[in-house]
Amino acid sequence: METEKKKDIKSFTLEELKKEMESMEEKSFRAKQVYEWMHKKQAVSYEEMTNISAVLADKCRERYVYTALTLVRVQESKVDGTKKYLFELSDGNMVESVWMRYKHGNSVCISSQVGCRMGCKFCASTLDGLERNLLVSEMLDQIYAIIRHTGERVSNVVVMGSGEPMDNYDNLLKFITLLTDENGLNISQRNITVSTCGIVPKIRQLADCRLQITLAISLHAATNEKRRQLMPIADRYSLDELMEACAYYFEQTGRRITFEYSLVRDVNDTDEDAGQLTTLLGRLNCHVNLIPVNPIKERNYVQSERRAVEAFKNKLEKNGINVTIRREMGRDIDGACGQLRRRYMERRMI
Ligand code: SAH
Repeated sequence: METEKKKDIKSFTLEELKKEMESMEEKSFRAKQVYEWMHKKQAVSYEEMTNISAVLADKCRERYVYTALTLVRVQESKVDGTKKYLFELSDGNMVESVWMRYKHGNSVCISSQVGCRMGCKFCASTLDGLERNLLVSEMLDQIYAIIRHTGERVSNVVVMGSGEPMDNYDNLLKFITLLTDENGLNISQRNITVSTCGIVPKIRQLADCRLQITLAISLHAATNEKRRQLMPIADRYSLDELMEACAYYFEQTGRRITFEYSLVRDVNDTDEDAGQLTTLLGRLNCHVNLIPVNPIKERNYVQSERRAVEAFKNKLEKNGINVTIRREMGRDIDGACGQLRRRYMERRMI
């Protein structure tokens, strides 16, 4: 007999959990207690929930899945204290997350999928395609596990690890709802960044939600031709369509867009490229993050020279564009997306 798939208790909103409690003939205030254990106190099992009866815990066990990650490895950067985590999910898949300490607080970078199907040429996460979407709880669990491990608060969350968040859109939105809930971690929308390779209809849909989160667009090239060489998504949506969607996002939310631009030597880092980028961005209210590409062994992309990076930055600045060179956090610990997971899986297969 096939058993019905259990629901995931950590993916419920408080309201949904109240309804679940009612359907189990439990008082609805129990929902808030269980919810706070899961989302405020990051409990990894019902055993920790001291004010919950054994009977209720048993009922929950029977009806729901309670996801928890197993910590497989932590690598700590000697340069800047950045920590890179490798977690195992309940089905044996692996995800990576990164913890970074900044002056303004601690930031966690999470993965939204196992693998990715976007196929960006320089990225390690996509080499084996998409394995599966992460559940809402599995996105939250990355942050919760890191809070438990570091014993420190997290104030910023970036969805910029492995996977394309807009390809897991419904779970992403619910994740943001739970993350910003005052009965949970209560992280401000303004402290959340979602990075996308540019799935235009989803950008528009997100704009209509009028959230105050920051949208980051992985641009990496200023002409369609060049972008197509680096990112297959550019075959689906032209730069015109992408830029119009970005303008719409700003119109709807008032939030300045961030553009990520990874500099690859002799590919997209010339004076001409900087000029084309200036033209493309025009008067859009935005911020550009320049990131020297993080070389992966499967591809032969090389980092731009320091001089080229500086020149690129200067040219944008002269044209009135806000630009920063992103500090490369954790360079010494497989900082680039998907590298740690790949390396681990490769070793495991030997
Ligand atoms: N899929 C989303 C989020 C994950 S990738 C997106 O495309 O935005 C997070 C960022 O890291 C993206 O800007 C991506 O283009 C960039 N990136 C991936 N691999 C990289 C590498 N080897 N070097 C530099 N940046 C990389």
